[in-house]
Amino acid sequence: MWKSSVKPVAAAEVREFDHEADVVVVGYGCAGAAAALDAQASGADVVLLERLSAGGGSAALSGGEIYLGGGTPVQQACGFDDSADDMEQFLLAALGPDADAEKVAAYSRGSREHFDWLVGHGVPFKESLWDSPTWVPPTDDGLMWMGEAAHPFAAAAAPAPRGHRVTSDGFGGKVLMQVLGEAVAKAGIPVHTDTGAQRLVTDVDGRVVGLVARREGRDVTYRARRGIVLTTGGFADNAAMVATHAPVLAGLPVNSDGGDDGRGIAMAQAAGAAVRNMAAGQVGITLVPGMAVRGMVVDERGQRFINEDVYPGLIGQAALFKHGLRVWVVLDEQAYEEVPEVERWGVRPHHVAETVAELEAEIGMPDGALQTSVAEYNRHAERGADPYFHKAERWLRPLRAPFAAIDVRRGMSAPEYGDTGGGAEVFTLGGLRTTTDGAVLDHDGVAIPGLYAAGRATSSMHARGYISGTSLGDGTYFGRRAGVAAAGLR
Ligand SMILES: Cc1cc2nc3c(=O)[nH]c(=O)nc-3n(C[C@H](O)[C@H](O)[C@H](O)COP(=O)(O)OP(=O)(O)OC[C@H]3O[C@@H](n4cnc5c(N)ncnc54)[C@H](O)[C@@H]3O)c2cc1C
Repeated sequence: MWKSSVKPVAAAEVREFDHEADVVVVGYGCAGAAAALDAQASGADVVLLERLSAGGGSAALSGGEIYLGGGTPVQQACGFDDSADDMEQFLLAALGPDADAEKVAAYSRGSREHFDWLVGHGVPFKESLWDSPTWVPPTDDGLMWMGEAAHPFAAAAAPAPRGHRVTSDGFGGKVLMQVLGEAVAKAGIPVHTDTGAQRLVTDVDGRVVGLVARREGRDVTYRARRGIVLTTGGFADNAAMVATHAPVLAGLPVNSDGGDDGRGIAMAQAAGAAVRNMAAGQVGITLVPGMAVRGMVVDERGQRFINEDVYPGLIGQAALFKHGLRVWVVLDEQAYEEVPEVERWGVRPHHVAETVAELEAEIGMPDGALQTSVAEYNRHAERGADPYFHKAERWLRPLRAPFAAIDVRRGMSAPEYGDTGGGAEVFTLGGLRTTTDGAVLDHDGVAIPGLYAAGRATSSMHARGYISGTSLGDGTYFGRRAGVAAAGLR
């Protein structure tokens, strides 16, 4: 995607630096804002660079869901007990296998304090629960389930809803970034916009001491007396990097602000940084969770492959990785009608039939395939059971004529985001290998002096799994830790 070199420049080649600060934070999304705020609060003088003409990043477009727990005031007000241990066990199960256990533990233990930090900066959360699977609640409710009560997670940890949604009349990311932006401005942190970092500057010992950026067609140099924090987002918009590292995501629409070009990751790799879990991705499958949970999600052989009450991104991962997104939501008229219009995101059935036999023929499934699945599903649903996938009894009911099917590849119209087609929108979860304090590690597992990172530029807590809220959550939480460490306080 980029043409210019990402190789580090030797400090000796930089005659004079144009700018100097203790900590240089690169990328003004949620991780960058948090890193800058806590680096400055630690006594460092900070400059925040942003390639575009304003901050926000993908964070400003996001749903504003932040995964928090351990007994936050919002959880308590909604009547839920929670503990850091249960949060940790859930995240290990949902983000794994091979989730970063140290980061998951730190994040879960730090979650209550992180909630206070967010609220302290003015991030609003309403003390009310949205109690049905969804991507983003159509109300301004502040708490939502992320599949914690679903099989197999309910057995791993006592369930509690931990999706904390920034109060908004739609997607809450814009509110989050507006509030963090006000905090950055109030703290007097200089923001250099239209300034895209291109290459790191390293000294003879391999320490990262600065960077070269491009502004208005010119090279601009920055010296970082204590450290650089890379918070440049992921690489989902870089087709070449995706093809190399995460080919299963290649060609799919991307869920980002369009700027996830991976440059920050590549700059650090060129300076010796290691990466982790580069093949992992969030798969925002284009189905309406409220419809899926009331019906069945089936593959092209008419077979279910997951319990439909898990976090819908996990349905997306299973659908993409195992079934190439050739999946359908099968439901009946009652199930469709039960989902309020505002939650349907423009989705209407693509096939309608009086019998399951007609429906499977219309879709092009093998004769009898879907009929067998629906008969089995109904037989057990009759007594509130799902012995195949263990969907919660609350969502089980025999499906009755007339039947309908939705082809997820036909997409939907997400509010504030427009039409989404192709079956899923994805972003990458892999990135730089870092410590819990954001130090970027080399291939020997040794911290590269002077270099820190957070947010989607890192692999952070995730392995193959994903739960909504862990991006804004880990970006801000580990961004803060990286900022403090870069300031020299850890
Ligand atoms: C529609 C949508 C909904 C989402 N909903 C949620 C949700 O509800 N909860 C959740 O947790 N996650 C959600 N996400 C994902 C989440 O928004 C991102 O994963 C998160 O914003 C990543 O944070 P970040 O700070 O690492 O990167 P970003 O927020 O993308 O910020 C990176 C910034 O770095 C800048 N930058 C990049 N390269 C350079 C460079 N070389 N020099 C200078 N600046 C640079 C970019 O311009 C950008 O401003 C959603 C994403 C989308 C698109």
